[in-house]
Amino acid sequence: MSDLLERLRMRGWRLTAQRRVVAEVLDGDHVHLTADEVHARAVSRLPEISRATVYNTLGELVTLGEVLEVATDGRAKRYDPNAHRAHQHLICSGCGAIRDVHPLGDPVAALPADQRFGFSLSGAEVTYRGLCPDCR
Ligand SMILES: [Zn+2]
Ligand SMILES: [Zn+2]
Repeated sequence: MSDLLERLRMRGWRLTAQRRVVAEVLDGDHVHLTADEVHARAVSRLPEISRATVYNTLGELVTLGEVLEVATDGRAKRYDPNAHRAHQHLICSGCGAIRDVHPLGDPVAALPADQRFGFSLSGAEVTYRGLCPDCR
């Protein structure tokens, strides 16, 4: 069973066949799928699942905090099931490939006190960019 599906079961999320398929598709490391990609994969397992159901389910999973929405410069938003393991993203400027990465040190701690403007910080998102081996 996928990590995400397991977490959803523990939370008592009502698992209809459609929701289950969406959760199953979002499994593994370095998974960052667009809603259309999630839909295409879901259809191969459950042919009758509609695009609207996939979009609604993704929205619910994001609201629950179980899936992250990753914005990548003008490209379609991507959905990332790795919501409980703090990580940053390395994005290829050529093809849009995304890897989960773990920089050394805590990016929140890296912001000096005099640049916090009285905020209490809850997190940081760092995006590394470059060209992947296929695009170099
Ligand atoms: Zn690339
Ligand atoms: Zn990620």
